[in-house]
Amino acid sequence: MLRRFLLALTGPLALSACATVPTAESPRPDAAASAPGTTQGMVSAADPRAAEAGIAMLRKGGSATDAAIATMLVLNIVEPQNSGIGGGLFLVRHDSESGAIATLDAREAAPAAAGPDWFLGTDGKPLPGREIYQGGRAAGVPGALAAMAEAHKRWGKLPWADLFQPAIALARDGFVVSARMHNGLRLYGKHVTGWARETYWPAGEPLAEGATLRLPLVANTLERFAKEGPAPLYTGDLAREAVAALNSAETLPSKMTAEDFAGYTVIERDPVCGTYRVWRICGMGPPASGGISVLAILKQLERFDMARLGKSSPVAWHLIAESERLAYADRNAYIADPGYVAVPVAGLTSPHYLAERSQLISESASLQSIEAGRPEGAPAKVASRGWADQGTSSLTAVDAEGNIQQLTTTINGYYGNGIPVGGIMLNNELPDFDIVPQKNGIPAANRVEGGKRPRSSLSPTIVYAPDGSPRIAIGAAGGSTIIAQVAKALVGVLDWNLSAQDAIAMGLIYAPGTKKATVEEGTELAAMVPALRALGEEVEVGPLGLKANAIEWVDGRLVGAADPRSEGVAMDIAGTITQIKRRENDLNGAHD
Ligand code: GLU
Repeated sequence: MLRRFLLALTGPLALSACATVPTAESPRPDAAASAPGTTQGMVSAADPRAAEAGIAMLRKGGSATDAAIATMLVLNIVEPQNSGIGGGLFLVRHDSESGAIATLDAREAAPAAAGPDWFLGTDGKPLPGREIYQGGRAAGVPGALAAMAEAHKRWGKLPWADLFQPAIALARDGFVVSARMHNGLRLYGKHVTGWARETYWPAGEPLAEGATLRLPLVANTLERFAKEGPAPLYTGDLAREAVAALNSAETLPSKMTAEDFAGYTVIERDPVCGTYRVWRICGMGPPASGGISVLAILKQLERFDMARLGKSSPVAWHLIAESERLAYADRNAYIADPGYVAVPVAGLTSPHYLAERSQLISESASLQSIEAGRPEGAPAKVASRGWADQGTSSLTAVDAEGNIQQLTTTINGYYGNGIPVGGIMLNNELPDFDIVPQKNGIPAANRVEGGKRPRSSLSPTIVYAPDGSPRIAIGAAGGSTIIAQVAKALVGVLDWNLSAQDAIAMGLIYAPGTKKATVEEGTELAAMVPALRALGEEVEVGPLGLKANAIEWVDGRLVGAADPRSEGVAMDIAGTITQIKRRENDLNGAHD
């Protein structure tokens, strides 16, 4: 049941052929030059208006952090289906002066009262997916605003209030509803309640694409955060409102408390770094699985000559799928909130362990069974389960000094659990826990526990060249496909010498720890299906909801990339948008 509901969430989203949302203020994409790029700052984001807000901060002398915060706040307005203050994030920051990497975990936290039966009925079985995803219990304490404040305190240069101005202006003066926002409402936004229903479904119809929307309530809320900081949401009236709304939800009321909100903390984690050939790959550690799993996929491919095989070789794609299977199996078994379970990070990323895992991969056959490995530090017995779904935005900001802010932010499903507070949609992140808390009597690492943070697929990643300079910063949206998207794009850039743009645009093979794999429909990979089947792959062609954003460094200059399947853009300091060739079929079935 849960899986069926999940498929409904991840099903195809038909989008209009016009991918970029024009606004009066937006620079015209056709005025842009794609190369050679700039050295002075760039933002890549899922919506041009969001990228523009980030660029406005850079022009005022702001840092990459300032730019990323302003970008996120505008995404909250123009892409409310995918991210916002009601959700969480993971960020990876590169410091240009010291070369140091810092990573922050602002994942949503379960209320203290939550436990392993949080999403189970009285019969001990999982509740129906609709209740799990659209109920009060789906929401964790949101982390995004707390993370913005923490990041600004550490790395911001502009006054905090300035970062809110582009979002406040759009909310107050109005903005054009994009195709994605409309389709997101029409197909996956029927569950929104209260203010969100009145605002996003006027007269019972989803807001039309092209309509101008004003959000005075959201403008007021943002003005308060601009003046008062995050306090209203964590210890003030909005916290009380959120607690009351979640606990009195019509579907699956929560047991959230004011203490849960007041006690929320942003946690600095150790980055997860390792090498792939000559490059150093750094990402986010647990409770995000991105850092470990992207590294594992790549490292397990290291003994194969991917460059020689090339992107037209079905064997290359088969190897990628096999490596994904092994990495996802480990992810599902071991990765969870490190505050609650001992995650064997060193074991899972050890070159020796990954070389051993890689020996399971054959160029001419497919794995017969897919099991988690036994990395050093692994518990005696493991139980593994895993779900995925969608509602996320990834962005990259680079400032004039070369600092990088790579982050991915999410409310999980479209419009989160559908419950608004002060015009902010609350997340439905807690179903990212393993709903079934144990398997064969063995507790799942990612089971629900009070105060715990659910495992995430978010994969903000920075790759360094052999001389230690940044080569590419990348992240993606799309549930557990995120890990595969980032790994695939990195094979494209690092092994196949593709531009980040072309590597993102390339089709995806997605094999999340199971025999079955999906090849993205409408891409060049679909024609490889017979060859993949001949290698023993159980592979189908289907839509995948993909959306990546990146910035790469080419000969010392910044070159932006954004997913042709999305409305995203990369914009430089002059307001020039990287040319993105959007294939007609890119927009079929693409969602984020
Ligand atoms: N909630 C998911 C995660 O954090 C992401 C959902 C999505 O990308 O759409 O792993």
